[in-house]
Amino acid sequence: NRQILLASRPFGAPSHDNFTLAQTAKPSPKQGEVLLRTVYLSLDPYMRGRMNDAKSYADPVALNEVMVGGTVCRVEESKHADYQQGDWVVSFGGWQDYSISNGVDLLKLGNDISNPSYALGVLGMPGLTAYMGLLDIGQPKAGETVVVAAATGAVGSLVGQIAKIQGCKVIGIAGGTEKCQYAVDTLGFDACLDHHSDELATLLAKTCTDGIDVYFENVGGKVFDAVLPLLNPKSRIPLCGLISQYNATELPDGPDRMSSLMGTLLVKRAKMQGFIVFDDYGHRYGEFNKAMMTWLSEGKIKYKEHRVEGLENSVSSFIGLLEGKNFGKLVVRVGPD
Ligand code: NDP
Repeated sequence: NRQILLASRPFGAPSHDNFTLAQTAKPSPKQGEVLLRTVYLSLDPYMRGRMNDAKSYADPVALNEVMVGGTVCRVEESKHADYQQGDWVVSFGGWQDYSISNGVDLLKLGNDISNPSYALGVLGMPGLTAYMGLLDIGQPKAGETVVVAAATGAVGSLVGQIAKIQGCKVIGIAGGTEKCQYAVDTLGFDACLDHHSDELATLLAKTCTDGIDVYFENVGGKVFDAVLPLLNPKSRIPLCGLISQYNATELPDGPDRMSSLMGTLLVKRAKMQGFIVFDDYGHRYGEFNKAMMTWLSEGKIKYKEHRVEGLENSVSSFIGLLEGKNFGKLVVRVGPD
């Protein structure tokens, strides 16, 4: 059983030295448990926060413990009445080949599924995040302008497409020409701007001719600086993530911009609301799943995976996720079906 452990806590960007690969015996399930074999491992930005020794909405990973992560697995051996060998399940097995579960954290996928890994993306945690953050907090209305960053990623690509389904004008912000081209040509966004450009703020102002009604916040930093002056009265900001800051070790240089932020929120009567997807919206998974399955089957939602082969490539892929190297939902193929 190969396991990737947290060896040390990063200061700034994580490096290979922060992880170790361990070999242990395959675990054995006790009565009431199942042995799971990992087929797919999801790599997600929140894992960076779990590497810190800081209290957050979830506990940190302890040193020399297996890195946490959502997985799609097959039941290899069952001593649990509800599961049989061969069942496909979604679990939280972490960065390893095998894990044990007592069934409480498992979701059955059924045995006749064409894309099991979708349960980690478009039909799973990132999908629910996009759907609930946009529709429940963002409250987009037809004709409004919605801006989303990390626009071709797991969450952002879905936010923009759901906003198009609602009849909105959608402006993406992404890293590089290829991603921006994809957002417009394949995802159907009205425009997409490259955040590497020095002209981002000017270009965004030119593109958002009617201001911004909903800004779905995934990245923070200079992208938010470009968005802030364009917010319309009564605009909504679902505060989902701040990936540009996850490796930061101190506050940015320059003048304190807190009063300018608060002043804008006040004058524009804007609403900014954070959310943690499963804590706030786990109970609405059924509603989301039904809507997303329908959109997928109708071809209204396109979904792109960035698939990596082999557990041994998880560390470099995760480091790359925080640098924008993924193009689509990052999923590691750990073992065969
Ligand atoms: P993505 O698949 O979008 O991958 C991350 C992307 O972030 C990169 O590809 C890159 O895209 C972008 N990025 C990385 N660094 C920077 C930077 N410095 N400036 C601007 N963009 C950057 O990830 P997810 O869709 O899984 O996650 C998106 C956000 O949603 C994250 O902030 C995550 O933490 C958050 N999230 C929050 C949840 C919640 O419950 N609140 C649940 C799930 C996700 P590009 O090359 O286009 O810049």
